[in-house]
Amino acid sequence: MVIQIPDFVEVVLTRLNENGYEAYVVGGCVRDAMLGKLADDWDVCTSAMPDQVLSCFSDMRTILTGIEHGTVTVLSDHKPIEITTYRIDGQYTDCRHPDSVTFTASIVEDLARRDFTVNAMAYHPNRGLVDPFGGQQDVSMRVIRCVGDPHTRFREDSLRILIGLRFASVLGFTIDRSTSDAMLDLHLLLKQVAVERVYTELEKMLCGESVASVLTAFRTVFSSVFPDLVWYSDLPDVIERLPCDLICRFGGMYHKSANIKSALTELKAPKMVRDEVVSLLKACGEKLPIDFPNIRLWFGVYGHECVQRILALVSALGQNVAELRASVCKIEQDRLCCSISDLAVNGDDLLELGLQPGKQLGVTLKALLCAVVYDQVSNDKQALLNYTAKYLIET
Ligand code: ATP
Ligand code: MG
Repeated sequence: MVIQIPDFVEVVLTRLNENGYEAYVVGGCVRDAMLGKLADDWDVCTSAMPDQVLSCFSDMRTILTGIEHGTVTVLSDHKPIEITTYRIDGQYTDCRHPDSVTFTASIVEDLARRDFTVNAMAYHPNRGLVDPFGGQQDVSMRVIRCVGDPHTRFREDSLRILIGLRFASVLGFTIDRSTSDAMLDLHLLLKQVAVERVYTELEKMLCGESVASVLTAFRTVFSSVFPDLVWYSDLPDVIERLPCDLICRFGGMYHKSANIKSALTELKAPKMVRDEVVSLLKACGEKLPIDFPNIRLWFGVYGHECVQRILALVSALGQNVAELRASVCKIEQDRLCCSISDLAVNGDDLLELGLQPGKQLGVTLKALLCAVVYDQVSNDKQALLNYTAKYLIET
């Protein structure tokens, strides 16, 4: 098993080795490399103590990310690498953080504290793979399995339940039976975890390509972590039919729920996410336009991104939107005028014609937009000015 390690990471391993310390890339980057994916972040674990790590990299920029837990970030070629001293986690009393950590000289002890077998592997270009818990085999069988006894591991840190479900959804892995039994047994412990952490996992889990089977098998877990969720029979399939877009997927999740705004507020979703989901569901609840001029006006109100989401959600919910989609394609291809800001004239042009600022201006611009979308006048400056003059005379 050979893993291609980028140069900016390799220099960090080499520097630690030259100073007499062990160092490996570890965790998600090893798992991703086995899956043929380039990792987003490369984590390093080492036998060096945090102050020894700092002195090894005294000529480079370092950040004391979590020095009390043994983590120092080094900027190598401007890219951050987290270097963590081998450690054993102490007692957990808050279901989330170890009360203390103990540094150790053993890579195997460090791997034993990690969540899942597929994340509990380390690799060094010369020493090869360190895989004491069968992670490589679980990657090849595409299985999520706890390191050690699942009940114990989820009691220590119940966020691991959602981390495991997130991996199953994103990687399309199945969950080993004793791990999934423990997830179902202990999911209520998630109520003790900071909601921000829960939200981060839910966000990633919802956007996974294999989310349907996870939602189906762990419905009880999700019903307890998503506030105010009203489940409907084909919810998992609706979500998986949607693009991997957070707003759409939250829309599918909360499609039947009444208090979406308060549910997402309770989850501490970012305000932008919350507002976009709320307006998506509101837009989906309105009657969709049928004739082309109204489709244009509708497109002008919502814009490209929101319209694509509305189409995705209503079609995932079973409505045939082929014709509406074709009209939207035409609007976009031909760059048709759909809103006041698309008009070839603006308020200033109309003021020059002698219109009064204020209400009259707004009403006139709206009338011009209607005239354009109903093909009574072309969206051309002179044509619009002539039309306005005529329109004004007539009023
Ligand atoms: P991602 O692709 O999301 O970054 P990752 O596995 O790299 O996945 P990180 O959050 O970057 O996840 O964590 C790095 C490593 O730290 C994990 O691979 C795992 O070995 C360990 N780890 C992270 N969170 C926990 C946890 N709650 N309990 C035990 N080990 C953990
Ligand atoms: Mg990672």
